[in-house]
Amino acid sequence: MKRYVNKTVLVTGSSQGIGAACALRMASEGAKVILNGRKLDERGEALIRAITEMGSKAEFITADISITAEAVRLVNEATGVFGALDILVNNAGVEKKHDFWDVTEEEYDLVMDTNLKGVFFGIQAFVKYCMAGKKPGVIVNMSSVHEEIIFPHFAAYCASKGGLKMLTRNLATELAPYQIRINNVAPGAISTPINKSLLENKELLNSVLENIPMKRLGKPEDVAAIVAFLASDEAAYVTGSTYFVDGGLTWHYEEQ
Ligand code: NAD
Repeated sequence: MKRYVNKTVLVTGSSQGIGAACALRMASEGAKVILNGRKLDERGEALIRAITEMGSKAEFITADISITAEAVRLVNEATGVFGALDILVNNAGVEKKHDFWDVTEEEYDLVMDTNLKGVFFGIQAFVKYCMAGKKPGVIVNMSSVHEEIIFPHFAAYCASKGGLKMLTRNLATELAPYQIRINNVAPGAISTPINKSLLENKELLNSVLENIPMKRLGKPEDVAAIVAFLASDEAAYVTGSTYFVDGGLTWHYEEQ
């Protein structure tokens, strides 16, 4: 399948984990890729090499998307790199574990500014660009099962992903007349560096697996496959939805 020939995609937070898998998956289908992170290091350089070896093109733009001006600059710069920007994948995200009563304003701001505010204004910059050029656009947001289900001790994270759920629902209607589609992907427990402490704690990992009907963690590639579908023309009639990639976690039910 080569669904992205002559398409350019920007994937935020793509040095590792799910973002890197999305970049590789879409590049393997012909996309030119703009990678992003707060700094370019050996992981970003390795990705650029891997994408170039696939016969596609990649550039890395450093930007901290938790700062609104940076999120906007990232999108605006990305539109110029390969001559157009067709797809925006808002993947960068952070989580902070704390009892609700111990959450500091600093932590709250970091989570909300990265997972919601930066996404909001990055989308706004992309929409303005599409509207100015009268071109269609596709947005895929990396939400979480926690746009739907609770995650005690991660209140700010849940608030940010819950906000992302309604942002997508709202924008689907507002942007449809401009041929701009927007959807969320909601991963369950995926094996990436964000889950380092879970992966290193066998007891905790086993209790998490008990709640997953498919009895395994997801792989970044499982998520990338759905992102690649939603961003493609195969999903031309899909907007305002959330696709769960969670091995059944969200709606699981223990039979007695
Ligand atoms: P990760 O920590 O492995 O990767 C996130 C990437 O985003 C990192 O490269 C990080 O440097 C980058 N990033 C963070 N803040 C940034 C900022 N301000 N500006 C630019 N880049 C920034 O995490 P992951 O597991 O790959 O998660 C990716 C997305 O998927 C996140 O939005 C996360 O909330 C979501 N998600 C992950 C899981 C999971 O189990 N791994 C589950 C549900 C949702």
